[in-house]
Amino acid sequence: MTLGVLALQGAFLEHEKMLTGLGADSFEIRQKGDLARPLDGLIIPGGESTVQGKLLRDLGMFLPLKEKIEAGLPVFGTCAGLLLLAKKIENDDRCHLAVMDIVAHRNAYGRQLGSFYTEAPFADLGKIPMTFIRAPYIGSVREGVEILASVEGKIVAARQKNLLVTAFHPELHTDGRVHRYFLDMIENSKRESGF
Ligand code: GLN
Repeated sequence: MTLGVLALQGAFLEHEKMLTGLGADSFEIRQKGDLARPLDGLIIPGGESTVQGKLLRDLGMFLPLKEKIEAGLPVFGTCAGLLLLAKKIENDDRCHLAVMDIVAHRNAYGRQLGSFYTEAPFADLGKIPMTFIRAPYIGSVREGVEILASVEGKIVAARQKNLLVTAFHPELHTDGRVHRYFLDMIENSKRESGF
């Protein structure tokens, strides 16, 4: 399995290390041409959503990427990646790829003006380690979005078809279960589509 990791800005190296540890190949997506390489899934890392959004537009990658995602490319967005995928960002005038039916709140999660660590249940995986760094949270979701984790009453992980988002950074831990969950998502969608 080969994944692309968007490597314009932010914490992309940590995702690559995690994927290597799980036995998946990955390559960095830095320019439009990289999007033409065959890939089974994509990770959009944490960092600054405004910077990543601007670079995607400036480098002519915005529309080709949006089209791929709308055509079913599996995508895992962490933190800023969650903001890039959200159809609406409550406290920001602009949204970015706007493909997932969630309303995100930017830099708005209680204690997270700094960062904090906690452990909480995620889907059927049991408790997993979660590090939040100036994290967003998901204020509301529309039909079709499955809530995978909440912390202190706020939604911090969700899935909609080919899209997985977490407000926290699973790539900063040695626990690879959330990335494994994404790889399983990809395998299942391949099986369902008959490839
Ligand atoms: N606060 C960042 C943003 O708006 C997200 C932080 C992160 O990715 N760790 O984009």
